Amino acid sequence: MTDKEQMSLFDLTPSDIPLVELPQAEGGEMAAPAKKAGRSSKNSPAVNNVVPVGEQFASLDALREAACNCHKCPLAPTRTNVVVERGDRKAKILIIGEAPGEQEDLSGLPFVGKSGQLLDKILESVGFDTSKDVYICNTVKCRPPNNRVPTEIEINTCKPYLLEQIRLIDPKIILLTGATSLKSIMGEKRGISKIRGQWLEWEGRLVMPIFHPSYLLRNQSREQGSPKWLTWQDVKAIKEKYLELVSADTNISASVVVDEDEEF
Ligand code: SF4
Repeated sequence: MTDKEQMSLFDLTPSDIPLVELPQAEGGEMAAPAKKAGRSSKNSPAVNNVVPVGEQFASLDALREAACNCHKCPLAPTRTNVVVERGDRKAKILIIGEAPGEQEDLSGLPFVGKSGQLLDKILESVGFDTSKDVYICNTVKCRPPNNRVPTEIEINTCKPYLLEQIRLIDPKIILLTGATSLKSIMGEKRGISKIRGQWLEWEGRLVMPIFHPSYLLRNQSREQGSPKWLTWQDVKAIKEKYLELVSADTNISASVVVDEDEEF
């Protein structure tokens, strides 16, 4: 299926696609590392992104083992499984969600319920292979009762695991799905709808906030300007940036190929 045909699934035309501008940082398009750990974006409250020495890990396996035996926050007693990760540990894209839901708690894998299936569809619609192009985790690793939003204490207690996942995966691009991961990493208090689709800089990495798939499940319209339509623009911008980064690494240029026939 051609790009044009794929777009027709969403009632779009190429001229409908808004341009997404990447903020220029010192030294080029890829921003320079923040001078100090813990620095967040402009206009955002300070967030602590420093992992205490005792909570650093030599490997992702060591991190997984520690998380699976963790009882540091009030979510531990009610969980079935600790939900640490899925995807490729060598991926250039790291996706951070909010917290495990029922299916994730039962399976021990993030984003495997309806939201996760939609996330996979979104990624596959621009040709990403979800088993090798992305690594997926959550802000907190244990399910909050009744799928409530994790508390600040729970988020902060679990945060060293998340920061260590980012350090050990070392992704080029981080996608923050929904307000909880956005707030945890960036300290960003503006609503997700205000800044989704924008490239931000965090600790020398490109970050894009996007709508959480569960929000898209509740908003099924594909009309221009709808959350799904906006996400379609975002995922194409993400693929374009990913290909730019791959091209820079391999010296082989590539363009976005939208060849999946599944709509999301
Ligand atoms: S949510 Fe995180 S900090 Fe809380 S018990 Fe689970 S792994 Fe530990």
